[in-house]
Amino acid sequence: MTQLDRRTVIAGAVAAPMAGGAGGALAQSPRIPLIATEEAYATPELMAQLDAGPPGMTQAEKTYTTLLRSGTAPGASELNRKLCSMEARLAEMDANGVDMHLLSITIPGPQAFPPQEGARIARSLNDGLAEIIRAHPTRFAGLAAIAPQNPEASVAEIERARKDLALNGVIINSHSFGEYLDEAKFRPILAALEAQDMPLYLHPRSPSQAMIGPYENYGLSGALWGYGADCSMHLLRMIFGGVFDDFPRLKVVLGHMGEGIPYYFTRVDNRYRNLMARGGEKLGLKPLRQLPSEYFKSNVYITTSGTFSHKVLGYCLDILGAERILFAIDYPYERSDEAVRFIRTAPLSTADAEQICFRNAQAVFRIKYSAPSRI
Ligand code: MN
Repeated sequence: MTQLDRRTVIAGAVAAPMAGGAGGALAQSPRIPLIATEEAYATPELMAQLDAGPPGMTQAEKTYTTLLRSGTAPGASELNRKLCSMEARLAEMDANGVDMHLLSITIPGPQAFPPQEGARIARSLNDGLAEIIRAHPTRFAGLAAIAPQNPEASVAEIERARKDLALNGVIINSHSFGEYLDEAKFRPILAALEAQDMPLYLHPRSPSQAMIGPYENYGLSGALWGYGADCSMHLLRMIFGGVFDDFPRLKVVLGHMGEGIPYYFTRVDNRYRNLMARGGEKLGLKPLRQLPSEYFKSNVYITTSGTFSHKVLGYCLDILGAERILFAIDYPYERSDEAVRFIRTAPLSTADAEQICFRNAQAVFRIKYSAPSRI
């Protein structure tokens, strides 16, 4: 559909009542399938290993873990059960009409451990994940975990995840021991992702120790703000570090409607152009082949995880297009019913709704899903 058509649909919906499922394409028949693409899981073994406070875990994550996931915190046992139990997950999916979860290891995953141990944990998690998917191939797909602090093992694991385990991409929970993916040591990982056509889900975690200072008050280090601040900076480091000039076919997926970056396109492009016209190299800027926002529009996909606002969705749709947006919940940290209500009532054309709800997930992550026959 054209931009104009899309605006008309959105504008038309503004006048219509939004509550009670009115207006959204998903409220119509036939029902559009839902593939949710940022859905966290864990294993009891990993939770126990994280409880021991491995060296790559930030202080903020230790506090967060204690608050949200340790056995003594209110609601923690429920959260742990939802992370670890596939039965509980399937029940919640069924209750909310979610067809598939693309599973990914919860933060910080293997990135919290020393290089050898991290690589071992990643392999074991991926073997287990492939087993879960084999047991429920119509309900689950999965992203491979890697330990980027061990680049050599990560390259081998990306290849194994694609060729032997048929996993659908790779998750990296932002920085590894405070290091970001634009750094030279990680180039072999980016090359392997591109060569294997494995999309990278760049998922947030708490800011690195070098960044954490002012986030340490008022709970700012977590999902409230710090996660997005760190993850958006991570993606900007990749853009400005020339990663997408070196790896033009690398696909990166960001949650939370692009971690705020689409809102800053004009500002970032404008400042980049301005600085480069005044000798920006002296400030450390690198000459890039495209404008920063152009890399975002050609290499990055965004998901709706934890950002259940029709206005934000409409804005992203307008500047990125429906082919760049994927549905996600952020189970179990966000409510499935809220996420599903949001997407079911979104003022979208049927074609856009289909792309966002399942077709883009099929295409980007090679998810084998056959839609139920339409009557
Ligand atoms: Mn998440």
